This record gives sequence, C-alpha cells and structure tokens, in this order.
Amino acid sequence: MMDPQEALDPETLRDLREKRPLLWLSPSHDPADEGRDLLLDPSAAHARFERCAGLLARLFPELEASGGRLSSPLSPIPGLQRKLSPAGGPGAGSEGVWFLKRDDILPVAGSVKARGGFHEALALAERLALEAGLLDARGDRARLAEPPIREHLGRHTLSVGSTGNLGLAIGLIGAGLGFHAAVHMSSDAKAWKKDRLRGRGITVVEHAGDYAAAVASGRAAALDDPLIHFVDDERSEALFLGYAAAARELLDQLRAARRPVDAAHPLFVHLPCGVGGAPGGITYGLKRLLGPHVHCFFAEPTASPCMLVQVAAGLQAPVSVHDIGLDNRTEADGLAVGLASPLAAPIMSRLMAGVFTVDDDTLYRDALALERAEGISIEPSAAAGLRGPLWLLGSPHGRRYLQRHGLVPAIADATHVIWSTGGALVPEDIRALFRARGAGG
Ligand SMILES: *Cc1c(COP(=O)(O)O)cnc(C)c1O
Repeated sequence: MMDPQEALDPETLRDLREKRPLLWLSPSHDPADEGRDLLLDPSAAHARFERCAGLLARLFPELEASGGRLSSPLSPIPGLQRKLSPAGGPGAGSEGVWFLKRDDILPVAGSVKARGGFHEALALAERLALEAGLLDARGDRARLAEPPIREHLGRHTLSVGSTGNLGLAIGLIGAGLGFHAAVHMSSDAKAWKKDRLRGRGITVVEHAGDYAAAVASGRAAALDDPLIHFVDDERSEALFLGYAAAARELLDQLRAARRPVDAAHPLFVHLPCGVGGAPGGITYGLKRLLGPHVHCFFAEPTASPCMLVQVAAGLQAPVSVHDIGLDNRTEADGLAVGLASPLAAPIMSRLMAGVFTVDDDTLYRDALALERAEGISIEPSAAAGLRGPLWLLGSPHGRRYLQRHGLVPAIADATHVIWSTGGALVPEDIRALFRARGAGG
C-alpha cells in the first residue's frame, strides 16, 4: 500500500490536515481517457428507465406529469455567478456561463439519490418478477403495479445503510414499488430524516458509530437472508449506472440551451462527493458521451476528502481520511464519508480531473447566497460544488490545469454545470437554521 502521507506533496498534506480549502489535481487523470475499456454500460440503465416509465407514472403521483421520466431542470444562475465571480480577478468577464443542475428537486427523493435509487429498485423488482415467472422479458413493466407481482415484491425487503439521503430515497422508492423497506442509519443522521421515514411506515434501524458502521451492519443482516436485498452504497453497480444515466439528460438540456460542448466550448462539471457513487456515475456517463471535452471536478468537505486521499494514495488498499489525521466531522451529512467507494475510486482515478475542498461555514454561506441571488433553496451538502468555477479560474492549480490542457483560449466560451444534489425534502424549520448559520448566526 502506498502511504497517502508519502503520495501527497508536503504542502497538500499540510493543507489537508489543517482543513484549509484547496484544489488538488489528480495526477492519474488524462482528459482523453473516456473509459471505453470499462464494461459498465450506461445505456442499459437508460433503457431500464425508458421501459419502466409507465410503471413509475402509475405508482408515483410526482412522476405523473413527466410520464414517469425522472429528470431535473438545468437552470442558469447569473445572479450567483455575478456575486461569486472574482471582480477584476483573473477570471473576471471571461468565466463562461454557469448553470445549476437541480437534482435537489428530483421527484420522490428530493436528492441525486433518486437516480441511483430508482434504478436499483427497478432492477430488483424486474428481476424478482422475472424469476418468479410473473413477468416475461418483453412484458409491460406497468404490470409490476398489479396485485400478483406487488404481493410478491412485498415479501422482499429492500434494505440500505445511509447517512440520510440514500436511506430516504431507497425507503420512499422501495415502499412505492411495494417492497418492505428497512433503513440502517448512523446515530448522527438527522432526526427529521428518520422521522420522515417512520412516518411512511418504513423501518429505521439506528446504529451507534458512523455511516460505515451502519452500512456494515445492514450488509451483515442481509447476508444470509435471501428475502433481503441490501443496496450497497459502496459497491453497487446498479446505483452507479442509475447516476450515469443522468449524462444523456444533461446533454439534451445543454443542447436545448444552445451550449455546445466541443474543443472550443469545454464543459466543466462540479460535483459534490460523498462515497463517490453519484458523482462517479455521472462523470462516467459524461466521459462516455463527451470524451475529452468534459472535465469533472469533485467537491468534498475539508473534514472528509475521502476520494482525494484514496486516489492520491493509489488503489492497492483502502485509505480513509482518518489515515491522514482527519475526523470526518462535517455538517454536510450527504458528504460525511471517510472512505471512498472501492467501485468508484479506481474509475475516478482516471476520469475525474481533481477535487476541491469546502469548509462547513462556506457551505452554509454559499447556500444562502444562492437563495438570495436565485431564490433556490438547497441543503448545505448540495452547495459544495458552487466554488468549483472559482477554483478553476482563480487558483494556481486551476490555471495550471487550464494551461496544461490547452483550455485557456476556450475559457470564455466554457459552460460550468454545478450539480446541486439535495434539499427539496428539508423541513422549513431546518431551512431556517441553515439560513441563520449562513448569515453568520
Ligand atoms: C449522497 C449525496 C451526495 C454524494 O453522493 P455519493 O454517491 O455519496 O458520492 C452529494 N450530495 C448529497 C446531498 C447527497 O445526498
């Protein structure tokens, strides 16, 4: 195993330990690498979403209007762009156009987890119905809403370990599809999320310890029970591919917004990262479609830069943020992960351009700035990507990236997509607390 303390240069290691926000460029990244040799197929996920649209429209009132299609708006954020752009700085007047990808208002789950969660739950429902002979391979998926199949699914438990949002997504989606749902949560998970699940009749199992402990015990409980399917946030290919399917949606939206993506018009995507599945899957899908013209940067809390340390340390063994003396304590509960996904990390060591880190105060402040400038209210974790364009345009490492890859002449014509990952289900009293903290209270 490569020691992360040796793999990282002394300056980066010192800044990480002192929780000083930084931009780190991945040394193993090559923008031309599209991951073509990797076998996971995002088009299979896309096809599953298509054939299940009728089913989803029938089961989830929130999806009726879209005909069962899961999608979120892509919104320009000129007010926030003006507010954050460094006036007179190196990027001023030439910072391209910024958009917010509104996964914070994805239906049912109110977070990016809807993408992975719907995909994995649908894959399981299809498989169980097929195996039981209740559906044939070409059969209409809307039949999964009818009594014989629904009763069959109800004998199975969809179980998950989660800091919150994945639990919310799997619980609400699983219950909607007819499964029994059980959510294993760490004791530090937010109370309102537990209450919301319990209010829907979903079982919440609380564990002392952090997110990793909740995942481990959820996984163990499912091990020798064939009627329990454990959604494994650290290793699930079905989740990963559900996220990857977002790439095509984004591409269609950029086209509709007349934002081309090519050598003269690069696309930069700024993605909040927890375990790495959601930003990893989205990055994977985008690299497949856009190749060298898309550059994906991950945003991690200063206390939990798990993807950074794993990729920096090499991939021979798991390395956590605790290994460099960090405590993984952050209010950004969607991102409070000490150890990166062993599925996503090796893929991201190639396809992700780099990681920037954000402290909690900045998350709250930026979430409030977004609300004031655009009237968009998101949860703190979801604000992690907002400073991505500034790191790229205004820091020495960012400028080095642009120079190294010949992007300087194209920067004024670039598109920045900041992925907003959660917030719609946050209760109003909690939003008020977020605001107060953002205002410095
Ligand atoms: C889960 C989550 C993320 C990150 O997803 P991972 O797959 O854990 O990397 C980002 N933001 C929010 C709000 C989330 O809930």
